[in-house]
Amino acid sequence: MPKLIYERPVLKKLNANTINKFGSYTGVQPVKEIAGVPVKALIEDYGSPVFVLSEKQVRRNYRSAYRAFSTRYPKVQFAWSYKTNYINAVCKIFHAEGSWAEVVSGFEYRKALGNGMPGNKIIFNGPAKSKEDLHLAIENDSLIHIDHFDELQQLITLGYQTKNKPRVAVRVNMDTGTYPLWDRFGFNYENGEAWTAIDKVIKSSPLQLVGLHCHIGTYVTAVSAYRTAAQKLSALALRCKNELKHMIEYLDLGGGFASTNTLKGAYLPAVDTVPNADDYAEAISNALLNAGFEKYELPMLILESGRMLIDDAGHLAGTVLANKRLGDGRRSLVVDFGVNTLFTSLWYDHQISPAGDFEPHTENMAIFGPLCMNIDMIREQINLPVMNPGDHLVVHKVGAYNMTQWMQFITTRPAVVLIDEHEQTHLIRANETLEYVETPEQLPAHLNAGI
Ligand SMILES: *Cc1c(COP(=O)(O)O)cnc(C)c1O
Repeated sequence: MPKLIYERPVLKKLNANTINKFGSYTGVQPVKEIAGVPVKALIEDYGSPVFVLSEKQVRRNYRSAYRAFSTRYPKVQFAWSYKTNYINAVCKIFHAEGSWAEVVSGFEYRKALGNGMPGNKIIFNGPAKSKEDLHLAIENDSLIHIDHFDELQQLITLGYQTKNKPRVAVRVNMDTGTYPLWDRFGFNYENGEAWTAIDKVIKSSPLQLVGLHCHIGTYVTAVSAYRTAAQKLSALALRCKNELKHMIEYLDLGGGFASTNTLKGAYLPAVDTVPNADDYAEAISNALLNAGFEKYELPMLILESGRMLIDDAGHLAGTVLANKRLGDGRRSLVVDFGVNTLFTSLWYDHQISPAGDFEPHTENMAIFGPLCMNIDMIREQINLPVMNPGDHLVVHKVGAYNMTQWMQFITTRPAVVLIDEHEQTHLIRANETLEYVETPEQLPAHLNAGI
């Protein structure tokens, strides 16, 4: 028997990605530029981390959504959802494109006025409008969307006191076939409250009912839900016409269209699964066109889309702080942005790319933020090349809800930069400073004496 040849054992790294006949594809591509500007230069000029918005992409998103609806329905108006991203430069881009403002607080309402929106192009939503807010909105002839009976009563009272007849809409919630039901805003359709509210508004002399509104949810991936919502609002509008001889001028279908970010727990990437603007537009337009309105009396269609119009126009560029092994042997990265900055990492598995060249070897790793808290997890698991402290990375699709929901926690909030259509960068919100954060603070005299 020939002697067996001894072969030295080798340790081989296991790649998480599968090998196909073209070799192994990791899906990882470096992202060295954002909208034509090198990531390295952005971080050098504005610090790390830094939010970067592409004006070109914002305008492109708006135009394609507007086209999707206006090619199917004769009267279409968008209103920019301020809470999605209310940095003034962003709002001004939407307004320049023709979008009205959709606000949900007195703070946002005043912001819209400050951005030059005429009062009659501001839609005032939300469950918490103060008496002062309502008064201001009436003075400015804005569109006030009523959330509950107490607000309705207050508007009637205010209506008797002002010379302007408040222009209002009734917000309706309903069963659209997606659950859990979103029934905490507005008046319910199924239990008859919506009709009661409509009837009351039409019959109350100081108010002018101009519209009906719904906002059925957020990141709603079922276009059928919008079809149902459009049918139910149309049914109410037609009932107003037939029973009360009152014409509704507009139906506002709200927002809630999905962006192409992948939700945590989703099995497939969102780019392959979520409907696009054409799909939503098709469902809504068909429902309205077939609802039974005469051609000349079709109501204007208002849309308040937020995340779909801006998510992919935003990136966050940041830096690797450290690289470590967890107890179970997994690799992890510590980066300089956490859930305080990137709030949406609580809902989304954000795509993250290295901003420079990398070794072909990739490994599954966790990404943690810099906070001293266990919840500060940017990705539980992601396949990335090994990166070193000082390397930059880019988070994709962060334009919606981060620059409004970010928290000032243990540090200041980062700068926001806009890249215009000519690849010029503009600081549109400076990195906060300690002084800025401390400005509203006051020290009682007995604590101000020194220690
Ligand atoms: C938040 C909000 C929107 C925008 O929602 P998206 O899901 O971002 O499209 C629109 N209308 C109302 C009333 C809202 O509260």
